[in-house]
Amino acid sequence: MKDSAMIAFDKNHIWHPYTSMKNPLPVYHVESARGVRLKLKNGPELIDGMSSWWAAIHGYNHPVLNRAAVEQLNKMSHVMFGGITHDPAIELASLLVELTPAPLTQVFFSDSGSVSVEVAMKMSVQYWHAKGEPGKKSFLTIRNGYHGDTIGAMGVCDPDTGMHSLFSGFLSKQLFADAPQCRFDDAWDEADISSLKKLLEQNHEMIAAVILEPVVQGAGGMRFYSPEYLRRTRSLCDEYGVLLIFDEIATGFGRSGRLFACEYPGVVPDIICIGKALTGGYMTLAATMTTQSVSRCISEGNPGAFMHGPTFMGNPLACSVAVSSIKLLLESNWKHQVDRIEKGLRQGLAPAASLSQVRDVRCLGAIGVIEMKEPVNMDVIQKRFVEKGVWVRPFGRLVYVMPPYIMVDEDLKTLTQAMVDVVSTLP
Ligand SMILES: *Cc1c(COP(=O)(O)O)cnc(C)c1O
Repeated sequence: MKDSAMIAFDKNHIWHPYTSMKNPLPVYHVESARGVRLKLKNGPELIDGMSSWWAAIHGYNHPVLNRAAVEQLNKMSHVMFGGITHDPAIELASLLVELTPAPLTQVFFSDSGSVSVEVAMKMSVQYWHAKGEPGKKSFLTIRNGYHGDTIGAMGVCDPDTGMHSLFSGFLSKQLFADAPQCRFDDAWDEADISSLKKLLEQNHEMIAAVILEPVVQGAGGMRFYSPEYLRRTRSLCDEYGVLLIFDEIATGFGRSGRLFACEYPGVVPDIICIGKALTGGYMTLAATMTTQSVSRCISEGNPGAFMHGPTFMGNPLACSVAVSSIKLLLESNWKHQVDRIEKGLRQGLAPAASLSQVRDVRCLGAIGVIEMKEPVNMDVIQKRFVEKGVWVRPFGRLVYVMPPYIMVDEDLKTLTQAMVDVVSTLP
């Protein structure tokens, strides 16, 4: 097939994320990727600002991760997890147990972030069922959240941007507290927790768990909020007998400046979800981890087992790349890299703050955000970024990047300069 025919076929037959099949925006044809660069077919290379949605922290086509994949491929790419185990799953689980806060020792592998959230929600419901409190089936969260696209996860996404009206009657109705207003570095304001507190007071008998993205709200608004909010939430959950789930699918593995964002407040959840960067962006894999107290309780209740088991659970290929990716991260002085990127983002994006089109500029860890006053025209802005040789994929009012940790200062400069230049040309 000729390139133009392939693009035409794509346009006519293939869904892309959140895209019309009638008037789709153009897609760019990537042929290969190496380091921080995406090579377009018959076109230039682009500096990648997105890490393929938080995932490719070591960049693309990494020799160490490639080797892990090939070595595992030569042993077995997949084998069922029912009644079977294997080295990659055991090695990965033991690394995860080591790296996450102490009581999170029980690991459930699944295929994607959304599924890991479903698993966390089912664990919470089964926990209370086993405890003899089957009425605790609802979830409490905060506005501006994003937890995935499957039904349970959608139910705890922001009710407006998560399009709850479109799916009303299909999604379970959950409880939404106001989003925290204290920003990451702000002094704590006690009023910030009042909405969550009130909802817990009034509804704790029906609430199984509070679910939050700690510190960084990702796709629901790219907001960074006060770690104190999480300390208050933890003690309220304890007071009212409600589990606490942290969704660290976006923040896990160093992105926020800590290995896990829950380290900022020093708060340990009962359940944690991880995904995205888990395999260094090589393939899909996620994990839901909990405490022995939760796993024991579920296992002692009726039906005596946790009721979930995906076909590709613990996929050896994905697990072995994840093991290599985590080892690479720990050997890489990632903290220094992420701090360096934060500094580069702060310096590079600062000039945008004075533009009249811009509402706010904020950075935390290897995440940089320009929030516009108006939603951007995707068609226009995407083309301009590609013309400047960078890959940035905005949504709504947010023009943001989370580069691979290996990005050198010079590329980071090109990336942030392109962001400032492009937003300054917008109306
Ligand atoms: C991306 C994301 C998810 C969903 O993960 P998928 O792998 O896309 O299903 C859930 N929660 C958060 C915070 C995310 O960023």
